[in-house]
Amino acid sequence: MLSESIKKELERIVGPANASFSKEDLVCYSYDATNAPHLPEAVVFPGSAHEVSSILKLANSAAFPVVPRGAGSGFTGGSLPVEGGVVLSTERMKAIISIDTDNLTAIVEPGVVTWDFQQEVERLGLFYPPDPSSLKFSTIGGNIAECAGGPRAVKYGVTRDYVLGLEVVLPTGEIVQTGVVTTKGVVGYDLTRLMVGSEGTLGVVTKAVLRLVPLPEHAVTLQAVFPALRDAAAAVSGIIKARIVPSTLEMVDSVSTRCVEEYMNIGLPKEGSFLLIEADGAKEAVAADIERIKNICMNNGATDIREATDKKAVKDLWKARRSISPALLRIKPDKLNEDVVVPRSRMVELITGIEDIAAAGGLLIACFGHAGDGNVHVNIMYDKRDSREAAAAGAAVTDVFSLTLKLGGTISGEHGVGVTKAPYLAMELSQPLIDAMAAIKKALDPNGVLNPGKIFPAVGARSL
Ligand SMILES: Cc1cc2nc3c(=O)[nH]c(=O)nc-3n(C[C@H](O)[C@H](O)[C@H](O)COP(=O)(O)OP(=O)(O)OC[C@H]3O[C@@H](n4cnc5c(N)ncnc54)[C@H](O)[C@@H]3O)c2cc1C
Repeated sequence: MLSESIKKELERIVGPANASFSKEDLVCYSYDATNAPHLPEAVVFPGSAHEVSSILKLANSAAFPVVPRGAGSGFTGGSLPVEGGVVLSTERMKAIISIDTDNLTAIVEPGVVTWDFQQEVERLGLFYPPDPSSLKFSTIGGNIAECAGGPRAVKYGVTRDYVLGLEVVLPTGEIVQTGVVTTKGVVGYDLTRLMVGSEGTLGVVTKAVLRLVPLPEHAVTLQAVFPALRDAAAAVSGIIKARIVPSTLEMVDSVSTRCVEEYMNIGLPKEGSFLLIEADGAKEAVAADIERIKNICMNNGATDIREATDKKAVKDLWKARRSISPALLRIKPDKLNEDVVVPRSRMVELITGIEDIAAAGGLLIACFGHAGDGNVHVNIMYDKRDSREAAAAGAAVTDVFSLTLKLGGTISGEHGVGVTKAPYLAMELSQPLIDAMAAIKKALDPNGVLNPGKIFPAVGARSL
């Protein structure tokens, strides 16, 4: 429990208006997209790295957990205060500090919403590609902490490919600058890369230096419908094998398609699965790629291929794609949302294997995702009030992970480990590797105050 004197000290650090202990506020900061809430004892809204530093120094001397939080849209419980303590929200730190159009870089605070930043740079003819489907509400800080990916990763890479440097407050309160503001830099260990994807366990990001690229001149969006998901998966492998690199290559199964169409009513196919494909770049090159992609889709059994002809059609298709995850909850009240990745040549084996797992468990498993990366969001639908279904869903997760690893894949492409995947860490990583990671955590956070209970619960646990 936080004592009254600690609460007063927190108020002194951030100002009384920027600290809350009220039940209403605590409930609002107790959840993320895992739907497994944990109540914090306080929520604070620092406005600077110095305030973040003072909060962490206090946490080390008074022994309470601090949990960084962006928008709380994470799928693995990263921003949940599983051991209580203080939620540190970055929502006041939302300045786009500078956009350097000469050097194609930008400096932003962590609470900037990704979409807002993208709109700002696109007005200047520049492009920040990382585009998690949550981009309209998730933050740059959360994207960095999770190394978020998104549809455009197939061509442009993920968040880590755009982070040149960071200002980070270490768990013990020191403020450090990692990386560079230049396009290259190799002085010392690459702590920028270490911080990216560290899920708020190694430091609090308070500023980021981001790389920008020129805005592509032209883009074409295509929708290709297939009778079965495995046909769509075969087309994905075919496109990659033909050495075409579309800017997005998204796959949506029939369950997800029906569900999101009922919700949005924009004319998605009534039967079958579909691929949402985009190619961008110089106009002639895009036209050539689109023709080849259409042929590969036809050769793999596509029954309908359409180009989105105007901006509204493109916007509707992407809105539908980004709405799948919440729309699925119309089918069942609970879902286990995994994001496995396999080599792209093994997509068909993954999809057929998941169909077998669903049939064996008597479960509905909806699959969609960034198929161009081999990254499939496997949504195991269930009702936790039904004990048989809940047990079958839990068993299906282990089976999906075993299958993925057997195919040479990884159990998470972008959602991270957090709380929900911690029990499965040893399925993928060897013990010496887990020990090395835990030693890094211990070296940077000797008192275990920053985001305890995540990735490796035993090590992250508070030790004071
Ligand atoms: C509908 C929907 C679609 C999604 N689609 C995608 C997708 O396509 N691709 C994808 O990768 N993810 C996706 N996600 C997951 C999620 O949006 C991402 O993980 C996102 O990066 C989280 O950002 P956030 O601001 O919500 O962070 P939060 O959920 O608040 O936090 C996530 C983690 O980051 C840490 N953190 C937050 N801010 C900081 C900081 N400043 N310094 C240090 N640590 C920090 C937290 O402690 C936590 O561990 C989706 C989620 C939803 C709900």
